[in-house]
Amino acid sequence: MAEKIMLCRLVWAEEYRSKDEPIYAGNMRYPAAHDLALERLNFADENGSVYGFVENRGQNFDLRKLGAEAADQSVDGVTVIFCAVDEQSNKLRVVGWYENATVYHEPKKPRRDSIRGKWEYYFEASSKDAHLIPVTARDLVVPRKTKITDRGFIGQRCVFYPANNPNYERFLESFELLRKDELVRGSDDIDQSEFQEGQRASREMTYFARNSKLVRAAKAHYGTNCLACGFNFADFYGDIGEGYIEVHHKRQMADDSVRLKTVEDVDVLCANCHRMVHRQAIPLTLDQLRSLIGDQQKPRKRA
Ligand SMILES: [Zn+2]
Ligand SMILES: [Zn+2]
Repeated sequence: MAEKIMLCRLVWAEEYRSKDEPIYAGNMRYPAAHDLALERLNFADENGSVYGFVENRGQNFDLRKLGAEAADQSVDGVTVIFCAVDEQSNKLRVVGWYENATVYHEPKKPRRDSIRGKWEYYFEASSKDAHLIPVTARDLVVPRKTKITDRGFIGQRCVFYPANNPNYERFLESFELLRKDELVRGSDDIDQSEFQEGQRASREMTYFARNSKLVRAAKAHYGTNCLACGFNFADFYGDIGEGYIEVHHKRQMADDSVRLKTVEDVDVLCANCHRMVHRQAIPLTLDQLRSLIGDQQKPRKRA
């Protein structure tokens, strides 16, 4: 039996919770022309459930691709991965997913009191199984064809079945990691605040790894001494520390809709100071951190 995984392309949105939310449709003709995209409500909670849509040219789904019989009207236990193209990078990125979703053969009409009004849907899942990824953490990119002759990629149609497709093997492995991360985050056994700190730090590292020009510019501008405490890695660790310093984005990564352009937007910090800055959701400023360090140093000097 085929693995029950669907990959569905949506318009880009931040929340998918309101009919009025701005969208970016890219080259998706229908939503672009009509400003209509029923997937705008894919993550809106209705009494503990979410109802999902994907543009399928008004057609029914062939549920046999999800292991169902030809006559079945629905299939349960499906993982529905949603992806969308973002305007800045033009990459197709995973924006969220449903675990354990029910997929219907035909588009379903909402109940009378539904916030959807007349907007039909294909998917239904429990709200707790609906995982929306915050905009700045949408790092997982979906493979697309690079040459016109490439076959076996998500393409003109918005619906795709990636299971057992060699082009999507690595993608699905990465998705598994993302999913595990999310399941860990949802569990009660872990320290939530520590997990979030780690998330913020790794998100920022990924960002700077992709923007090495800015990192080089920051080092050239500020040098490699920590701006908060003065620590220098090469002085302390010798050769292995040469040139090492972490770049910190002054603005909160979470509201980073504006792209960083200059070294004015960043600080260079040692690993310790950097972690301390990120212990809270809104990072400490350099001045705040310096004054904390100052407060700690004073009594020690006296002793
Ligand atoms: Zn430092
Ligand atoms: Zn930082």
